[in-house]
Parts: sequence; C-alpha cells; structure tokens
Amino acid sequence: MIPLHIIHEHLNKYKGTDIKIGTICSHSALQIFAGAREEGLRTVGITTRDRIDTYKAFPHACPDEFIIVDNYKDVLKADMQNKLLLKNVILVPHGSFVEYLGAKNIEEMLYVPMIGNRAVLEWESDRKMERKWLSDKAGLLMPKVFNNPKDINCLSIVKFDGAKGGSGYFKVMNSKQFYDEAKKRGATIERMTIQEYVVGVRYYLHYFYSQIGDTGYKCKKGYLELTGIDRRDESNIDELHRLGMTRDEMAKAGINATYTVTGNTGCVIRESLLPQVLEIGRKTVDASMDLFSPGMIGPFCLEAVVTANLEIKVFEVSARIVAGTNVYPKESPYTYLSYGKPMSCGRRIALEVRGAMKKGKLHEIVG
Ligand code: ADP
Repeated sequence: MIPLHIIHEHLNKYKGTDIKIGTICSHSALQIFAGAREEGLRTVGITTRDRIDTYKAFPHACPDEFIIVDNYKDVLKADMQNKLLLKNVILVPHGSFVEYLGAKNIEEMLYVPMIGNRAVLEWESDRKMERKWLSDKAGLLMPKVFNNPKDINCLSIVKFDGAKGGSGYFKVMNSKQFYDEAKKRGATIERMTIQEYVVGVRYYLHYFYSQIGDTGYKCKKGYLELTGIDRRDESNIDELHRLGMTRDEMAKAGINATYTVTGNTGCVIRESLLPQVLEIGRKTVDASMDLFSPGMIGPFCLEAVVTANLEIKVFEVSARIVAGTNVYPKESPYTYLSYGKPMSCGRRIALEVRGAMKKGKLHEIVG
C-alpha cells in the first residue's frame, strides 16, 4: 500500500484554493461534476475520446476540462499521475473507477490524493473480510452463509468470487440442487459463496460519513448522514414474473435469472425504520474505525433486504459513492430534510472538500 505520508506530502503541495475535483467519466461522474460546480470547485474529467460528446451533452455537469486517455489504466502511469498532481486534483473514486483501475493497483500504485481511506478496498472486496467487519465487528444482521453445501437448509443464492453485477448467480433449495447446478456450470466450489436468500424488499441505503462535520447522527467520532435510498432494476430477475412461467418452465425454456443492474429508481423507507437504518450505518462506521483507522470516510452504501418482520439484513457494503445516488442529482428526500436546500451526494462530497479546506483538515478526508 502507498504510505499515507507520501499522499499527504503531495496534498501539502496543492495550492489551497485551486483544488480541483477529478474522476473517470463513468458511473456517477455527471453528478460528481455538477455537485463540485455547485460548490464552486473546478473539475477534471478523465475520459476516453468516445465519451466526450456524452458529457458535453449535459452542460451543467460537463467537467471544466477533459484529460483524454486511450485506456483507463493509463491513470496509473506516472506521467498521468504527475499531470493530475500539477492540476491539484483530488480524485473521487466510484464503482467504475475501482473496476477500471483495479482495487490492488489503487492501493499499490495510485499516489494522487483520493477522497476516502484506501484501506477500505481490501475490506469490502473480500467477502470473508466484509463479513468480519459487518457481522462480527459491527453486529449487523446478515444472511446466513453455508460453508459446506451439505448444510444448505433454505432457499440460497450462490455467488461467484469476483463476479460483478450478480453475473451467473443461481438459487438452490438444497445441496443436491447445488451440486447439479454447479456441475452444469462447470463451477468450482472454492470460488463460490452460498448465502441464505433473504426474502423481503431490497433497499440500497446511501450514507455519508464525516469525521469533520458537526451535524447528523452521532458516531464514535464525527457524524453520519442518510443521503438517499434507491432500488436497483436488475435484469432479468425483476421482470421474470411477467412471463407467468414456473421455475421448471423457465428452466425448460433455457431462461436463467440474472442480476445485472440496468438502472435505479428512488424510494423512501417507512419512517419507523429510520432508527434502525441510522444505527446500522453508525455501527458500520464505528467498526471501520477500529478495524482500519481512521475508518471509512465519505459516501458509502449498505445493500439490504427488509424482511416481513421489519428486520434489516445487509448483504453487501459499497464503500464509495454508488450509482443509485444518480437518482437524486439535485436532492433526495433525506438530503432535503438535512439541508433544506439542494444537496446531491456529489455535491456533499464537494462540500466536504470545501469544509476541510476551510478548516485546514484536507488530510483527514483524503487517503
Ligand atoms: P455483486 O456484488 O456481484 O453486484 P451482490 O451481492 O450485490 O452482487 O448481488 C447482486 C444482487 O443479487 C443483489 O442486488 C440482490 O438483488 C441479489 N442478492 C444478493 N444477495 C442476496 C441475498 N442474500 N438475498 C436476496 N437477494 C440477494
């Protein structure tokens, strides 16, 4: 891992007021750029040539300048990183940013200051470490995991290591079904996680954690904000009911459920669940401080299912801005209730940067 003091040395050379927000043009970049503009910060979009027109199509969210790359991994090259340093860029990582550059490469090669704590990358990308964090340390309710397929005793979802967007995941009721399906797919058991399929309604809970803020839901240090909630549209699982076919009929027709995210819709959760929502967010933050100090910083998302008993079971954490926040480029019902004025997640990030600059605490939010 790049030592933090190296990143902070670069940050110290940034000229106080001329800091720019930069990211790769994908995922939630439009919202990040628009939010930075609203907070009076200039922006740098790192993009391949073919995407420029897409970003120009949204003038309020178009970055002030583009840096064109042939391949996103070029961001890791020293000449590109030095260029970003000269422009005083603070990078905002999003899902595609981590996907394109690679979590390991970010930890070991990227020395440009980035919002957040890069130590979180290994904790969220490994399902066993994620469970240690969320279940063992934070005490969140999570789906049961069956380490031995013979133990499967309820409807379970089988996930592949490294698979993104639920690609190839399948559901089984017992160990026989598991072995049959695994054989059909030529999959190795070691590369799979078998998880209780939680029956209920999915909610993707967006939070922002600030160590330097002074309003919100109190954590061990700093404050937590609920910035929004979305529901993902996942193809084709979300529309399979429209076929009116049974599971067997679908199998015969060669139709397998998939979970690829195609879009998002906004939603709110019943108000009486908010205490639970805020508590699980706080516990996640507090546990992160103990496990990888200074802990998780900035935006994150808990992916959860609310059961019929109104329990919230969390099946995943994303420790950065999630694409579901794009539903709220101006404000969400919750940011409105916190700020009483427009505040997107992208803008909240820029607000944090501005606040940290003013308080001389930029090094506390950048890693
Ligand atoms: P990935 O990290 O590959 O995107 P996820 O773990 O987010 O995969 O799972 C993809 C989708 O599968 C989720 O958005 C959700 O719809 C469904 N899912 C995952 N785990 C569970 C679970 N334990 N119970 C119910 N649905 C689940």
